[in-house]
Order: sequence, then structure tokens, then C-alpha cells
Amino acid sequence: MAQELLLYVLVVVIAGLLSLFLCGYAVWKIKDAPGARYYILVTFMSAVFTFAYAFELMGTSLEEIRLWLRIEYLALPFIPVFLLLMCLDYVGQRLKPWICYTLNVIPIITIFMHNTNSLHHLYYKSMKLRSDTPFPTIDLEGGPWFYIHSIFLFLCFMMSIIILLMQLKKSSFKFRMQILLMIAGLMIPLLANYFYINGLSPSGIDLGPVSMSISFLFHGIALVSFQMFNVTPIARDIVFENMQEGVIVLNQNNVIVDYNGTMLQLIPKLNKHAIGKPIRDVLRSNPRLAEIISNKQECDYKISLGGEHVYYHIRFSPVQNKKNISIGRIVTFANVTERVHIQEELKKLASTDGLTKVFNRTFFMEKIEEVFQSLTINGGGVSIIMFDIDHFKKVNDTFGHAIGDHILVHVADTAKKSLRNTDIMGRYGGEEFIICMANTPLYQACEFAETLREEIAKENRLINGEEVVITSSFGVSHAYINAGESQYSIHSLMKQADEALYAAKGKGRNCVQSYRQALGIVK
Ligand code: GH3
Ligand code: MG
Ligand code: MG
Repeated sequence: MAQELLLYVLVVVIAGLLSLFLCGYAVWKIKDAPGARYYILVTFMSAVFTFAYAFELMGTSLEEIRLWLRIEYLALPFIPVFLLLMCLDYVGQRLKPWICYTLNVIPIITIFMHNTNSLHHLYYKSMKLRSDTPFPTIDLEGGPWFYIHSIFLFLCFMMSIIILLMQLKKSSFKFRMQILLMIAGLMIPLLANYFYINGLSPSGIDLGPVSMSISFLFHGIALVSFQMFNVTPIARDIVFENMQEGVIVLNQNNVIVDYNGTMLQLIPKLNKHAIGKPIRDVLRSNPRLAEIISNKQECDYKISLGGEHVYYHIRFSPVQNKKNISIGRIVTFANVTERVHIQEELKKLASTDGLTKVFNRTFFMEKIEEVFQSLTINGGGVSIIMFDIDHFKKVNDTFGHAIGDHILVHVADTAKKSLRNTDIMGRYGGEEFIICMANTPLYQACEFAETLREEIAKENRLINGEEVVITSSFGVSHAYINAGESQYSIHSLMKQADEALYAAKGKGRNCVQSYRQALGIVK
């Protein structure tokens, strides 16, 4: 019999040492981590409680047992409160200080009630040694406050479990194991308590102290193997969820493993049912994005959000296991709208002439290169108009450069207003402009030039009290490019327009000449 007791005392002492070890380990390794402050307190309280219980078990008289029971009760009532605070801290929730203090009111009253029980018997109705057990154990009949304390203890445990379960729902797969271990740790003392209260524990022994140490062992395992407090899953989840970048995690088969909240704005089709499905299936209505992701094509991607264009840069990062074997990839969508707008603005600035706001010569050449390229594929006619302000030097000399600038802008604006969407206009040189009209026959280009000439010349301007008429001369060239004809020279067509313009100047200015007219082929 004594052997049986010794064995049980040994188990309890080992449980106490375990709590003490976990407490020391937490102080040494993780004291600044979230939840760790309470973990340290709770394991220390558990150690005090467990050692006192070992002495209680060895007690031979009611008085002796009662003394150790009192010491146990200095620690026990705080354990559920600290556990609850640990779980809250762990999931990143902070209670207001006054709530934390209030939570300790019941434990303090419990200690008071326990110590003054002989005066009121509100904690234990009766206390006597059991005669049916192999060694002296105490038979306690609970009073009203005993039940209040038990309910409070139970509620604290339940609240802790609920808090963890709620976090479990929000957490990504990787961190669920940790939280499940924490929950399992909390379930053990509850089960032990259930056995004890229902008289199912062997020899009426309170399994609480041992179960509690085992429970902290669970938390300890979670702590060591998953670095429970070091890299809190919660912090990671919060960072993941609140990232401005949208993130999707795919496994090696392009199956969605995880995604964050930002992704929902970009792909509304993503919902919890999307997890476990191939990305291609989820993006069935968006084959272009599906292709970008399947081909790991790093690029800027345009999305229309609430009628506005938003640009995302899509990046891919491989996910590898410890053996450097690829097990999936992370697809990141970073909002680069501002950068794209700045780039567009810069491109515009680099492509337009500062004074007249039409394309500069370099950009005009790039643009018509594209037009000619498409014409060599599909075939079609193209006309080029070159025009130059007449006697502009005289205008500058007479009225000054500023007035000259003003006239240049006005002429460019007049031309811009008449252009079709497909026409491209550029400033070719000082007061010389060029227009490229794709799929436009010569006669139509000449008509356009004639209308523009009239438009420019029709205004009599009053400059410095003098009436001034600004006129321009126009040269027009045309070519028909057959589909597949790759050798066509843009430059020769431009040269023809220039020659026609020269002819127009020679004809007395303020007129339109086609290249054919310039050659004397037609009048
Ligand atoms: P023509 O009828 O033969 O074209 O005679 P023109 O005087 O217009 O021809 P010329 O090429 O001799 O002179 C062009 C003038 O345009 C010379 C230059 O000072 C002026 N010019 C070129 N760029 C600018 C500009 O940006 N602003 C101003 N105000 N004048 C410019
Ligand atoms: Mg001129
Ligand atoms: Mg000129």
C-alpha cells in the first residue's frame, strides 16, 4: 500500500518538476514572446500546486493535509485565469487592465474563503479523512463557493478553448497543428476533473496536478517543436491577411493552398471552396490571368476595379522544402498603379514636343514604324502630309520669338482638331509638321491638307496692331503597300512628301502639292 502511494507521489513530483522545468525553459528562452509571460506564471503556479499536492498525499493527519491544501490553494485559483490570459495574448488580443484585475477577484475570494472555511463552511461543507482508500486521502464536500469557483474555473477553460478554436478557423493550415496542440493541452485537465468529480479516478486521487503538468507539456511541445511563441502564427496570419499585396499559395500541381484577403478584391471568385481546387478551374472566366499564372509570366496586369484601372505586378517565388525540392509557389500581386501612371506620364513627356504638344520627331518615327509594320502584314494605302509655315522667319523677326511660339502652337492646335483617331501627327522640325494617314488614298489626304491649309489661312490675326495672315504650304505623298511587302521604305515616302512641300513653296506657298504634281505627272 505504501508502495502504491510512493509511486503516485513520485508521479506527482515528476509532474511538478516538469512544470518547473517548463517554467525555467520559458524564462530562459522565450520570455519576451506573446503569451509567454502568462505561460511562465501558470507553469510556476502549477509547480507550487503540484509539489504541495505531493506533500498532501504524504500527509498522515487531517491537520497536515489541510495545511498543504491551503498552500495548494495559494496557486490553484489563479491557474485558469493565467491560462485564459495566455491564450488571449497568444492570439494577439489584449484585455483592458481593469478586466485583467477583475478576473483575479474570484481567485482572491476563493483563497480567502478557503483559508477561513472553518468559520463559515462556505467552501467545504465538510472535510474528513476517507477510510476506504489504501492511504489517507481527504474527502471534501463542496460548499456554495466551491461550486462558484469550479464554474469559474470551467468557464475560464472553455473561454480559452473557444478563443483558440476561433483562431484555428482563421489560421492557415501550417499553424493549425500548433493551435490544436494548445487546445489538446487545455482538454486534459478538464477530462481529469471530470473523472475526479464523478468518482472515476483511482483511489479518489485528484488527477488535476498531474494532468495540468501534462497539459503544459503539450503547450511545451507546441512551444519547442513549432516555436509557438517565437514565430507566432497569429502575427504571421495578421501580416498575411493585412498585406497590401495579394498573395496566392499554390502547390506543385497549381492547386490553391492558401490566399489572403487582398486577393479577394482581385479575384472575387476566390472563396473558401477554392482551396484545394486547381487555379485554372477557379480562373475559368479569366483565361488570360490563368495563363499568366500557369506560365509563371512575371508582368504588369491590368484589372478594372470599380470602373478604375488598377495595375498589379505579378511575381512568382518558389516554395521549397528542406531538401530544396520545389513543393509549390507563391504568387504575389503588388499594386503598381502609381508606378505605371508615372511611367505613362514620363513616356508621354518623352514622346511629345514641349511647345506644341504633338509627338516629337523620334516618337513619331516609332509610331509610323508600327503603322508600316501592320501595313506590310495586311496591305493598304498610306499617305504622308508634310507642311511648313510660310515665311516664319519673317514672323519671328517682325514680332519676336514669343509671338512666333504662339503662332506655332495655334497652327499645331488647328491641325490636331482636324485629325482622325488613326492619324498620327508630329513636329518634324522648327515650324514643319508631318502627318501620317493610314488607309487613306491620295485624293483624301490632299483634300484633308487643302481643308487644313484653308483653316490656317482663314484667320486674319491682329498682332501688335498689324493684321497678319499666317499661311502654310503642304506636300503630300502616297503609297500602296502590298501584304507581305517587307522592303518598303518609310523614309522614301517622307522624302517624297518633303519634295512635294518644296514644290509647293516653289509654286508661291500657301498651297498643297502632291508628289505626283511635283514630278509633273499630274497638274
Ligand atoms: P519658308 O516659307 O520658306 O518656310 O520660309 P521660313 O522663313 O518659314 O523658313 P526658314 O526655314 O528659313 O525659317 C524657319 C524659322 O522658324 C527659323 C526659326 O527661327 C523659326 N523657328 C524654328 N523653331 C522655332 C520655334 O520653336 N519657335 C519660334 N518662334 N521660331 C522657330
Ligand atoms: Mg517656313
Ligand atoms: Mg522650315
